[in-house]
Amino acid sequence: MTRSQRITVLGATGSIGLSTLDVIARHPERYQAFALTGFSRLDELKALCLSHRPHFAVVPEPETARRLQDALAGAGLSTRVLWGESGLCEVAAHPEVDAVMAAIVGAAGLKPTLAAVQAGKRILLANKEALVMSGALFMQAVRTSGALLLPIDSEHNAIFQCLPGDYAQGLGQVGVRRILLTASGGPFRETPAERLAAVTPEQACAHPNWSMGRKISVDSASMMNKGLELIEACWLFDARPSQVEVVIHPQSVIHSLVDYVDGSVLAQLGNPDMRTPISHALSWPQRIDSGVSPLDLFAIGRLDFQAPDEQRFPCLRLARQAAECGGSAPALLNAANEVAVAAFLERRIRFTEIASIIDDVLAREPVQPLDSLEAVLAVDECARAAARTWLMRHAG
Ligand code: NAD
Ligand code: MG
Repeated sequence: MTRSQRITVLGATGSIGLSTLDVIARHPERYQAFALTGFSRLDELKALCLSHRPHFAVVPEPETARRLQDALAGAGLSTRVLWGESGLCEVAAHPEVDAVMAAIVGAAGLKPTLAAVQAGKRILLANKEALVMSGALFMQAVRTSGALLLPIDSEHNAIFQCLPGDYAQGLGQVGVRRILLTASGGPFRETPAERLAAVTPEQACAHPNWSMGRKISVDSASMMNKGLELIEACWLFDARPSQVEVVIHPQSVIHSLVDYVDGSVLAQLGNPDMRTPISHALSWPQRIDSGVSPLDLFAIGRLDFQAPDEQRFPCLRLARQAAECGGSAPALLNAANEVAVAAFLERRIRFTEIASIIDDVLAREPVQPLDSLEAVLAVDECARAAARTWLMRHAG
């Protein structure tokens, strides 16, 4: 019997983090939580530490680290509490860690995820923003270190499952014609264009099929999530943007498909529950029980498909343009989107202005090649500054 795998969960208090810990707890003989990190909801992080007893925890500030350290010591735990970005990078790259769940939301996850990549870990990648903003650099680091990169995003996990093991030699070489990336269409799939300006953060966060963090919920509502996923698919599977087609599939049962030159189309299906891709990536190439109930095709009854409407959902068009443009364009898109989504959640802008901000930033900022982490971070900062300037001019 091999020893149990030690897992660092970056973003343990989030939606993906909690689903990961649920799967880990189902298999105590196979997996143990080595480090848990949280940014807010630190009472929840404390409760997670008490039940999972990790070696390390990471919080944002030294003061909260000291308080959590004292509380855990008082409960008889020897968990060491670190803080800040250096703490995140330390637990991501720690020599005793086997796998890292990268589930921090947004650009904040880039450095710790890259630290795990550079240390050659098994990377369970949920943090799509990290890959979108630094794609070339990220994939180069994976090749250099020999890290094993496994997608957690349900669509990319599905595509990975539908591709042959040797797909890295090139999609054309293995007979792939297209990748069909499914999208639920989000809560506003049927909302007329003229009503989109008035939708609230609560409506945007009420996803019909998936329960997720607030940022990705807004991204799903604007379809920027599918745009980010298109860019993610291009990097993960070495695809051109024109090889990735978005298909609206409201039931979220088919998680994506691969279309081969002989006319075969392979799909991965399952209930919309992130514990399936998490379990797949944790145990690959084996399979483990995830706790997800079996798919009941009779209850589902039918599967529907529609073409996406890029007029009503301009974020999808902007993301495709950024993917085709390459260089720093995806990093600009991602950073502008993060600022815009935060402003929408704070009720400073309308839902439809998310796309206006991104459009403005992409039109204003020059596109350049990104060959270093410093260059990625500089572009990210420029795009945020440009988006904040838009907000100062147009929003309260
Ligand atoms: P969430 O908001 O529920 O959780 C985010 C986690 O990141 C929390 O633990 C939070 O404390 C931490 N965090 C936030 N800001 C931070 C910062 N500045 N520094 C350090 N930590 C910080 O989000 P989620 O829904 O779990 O999504 C996490 C990632 O996974 C996102 O990139 C998202 O796109 C991706 N993803 C999520 C789902 C899903 O079903 N939830 C599906 C596919 C991909
Ligand atoms: Mg997804």
